Amino acid sequence: MLIDSHCHLDFPDFAPERDAVVARARAAGLKRMITISTRLDRFDEIRTIAETYEDVYCSVGTHPMHAHEGEETTLARLIDLSAHPKCVGIGETGLDYHYDDAPRDIALRVFRTHITAARETGLPLIIHSREADTDMAAILTEEMKQGAFKALLHCFTSSLALAETAIDLGLSISFSGVLTFKKSEELRAIADRLPLDRLLVETDAPYLAPVPYRGKRNEPAYVAETAKVLAEVKSVSVEELGSVTTANALRLFDKMPPLDDIARSGENLAGQAA
Ligand SMILES: [Zn+2]
Ligand SMILES: [Zn+2]
Repeated sequence: MLIDSHCHLDFPDFAPERDAVVARARAAGLKRMITISTRLDRFDEIRTIAETYEDVYCSVGTHPMHAHEGEETTLARLIDLSAHPKCVGIGETGLDYHYDDAPRDIALRVFRTHITAARETGLPLIIHSREADTDMAAILTEEMKQGAFKALLHCFTSSLALAETAIDLGLSISFSGVLTFKKSEELRAIADRLPLDRLLVETDAPYLAPVPYRGKRNEPAYVAETAKVLAEVKSVSVEELGSVTTANALRLFDKMPPLDDIARSGENLAGQAA
């Protein structure tokens, strides 16, 4: 069993065959998919997708690349939209110094607004951090002192230092297909040092398809490839890795109902898909 903790099912890449993409994910053993918001003015589409598929949940937030454009990200709006029963997280938000699309002061202000929303709603914050390790570690440390909140560093590709700071602050860390890339030895070494009970897996689909699909359009079913590599790194079976990361995801995104109902009503999602 697996959960794709981060995908973008609203992106146009999936529009022609979203049903088939979700069906392939279920066939690959996925119990849940969380489709992640990148702009508030697209939240209606995200919500509709989450309402269409029983096993798809969503988040609400503004990606750091869009922090300066589109609908303004206010605390009231985040809290209001997050009340939807299938909205289980706040984000994705954070800092992206690789693309640097939004002015940094705006990106930072919008990031802090999301943090406040996570604190006030109790929903986990989904953090995107790219080439911003020092600032990210400082902000998380400072904000956590002002009041605890739950959070996840998604698509982790940063340093061991940031990973350790995050773990010390109580955060979870999610690995994407990047973990499977040949050149990612250092990332696998970092994964090896982190506690398994804080790790999640994701696709970030349609981006970053894992080996052996690298370069193709990614989709939630492929999270199984990242899970295989993480299982090797952690020296556990693929089954164990799947059940531990699934339990970790359900513990973090605790607005999602537990899996017991599914298990009772006939093992996996074959039944649920009907
Ligand atoms: Zn991201
Ligand atoms: Zn994303």
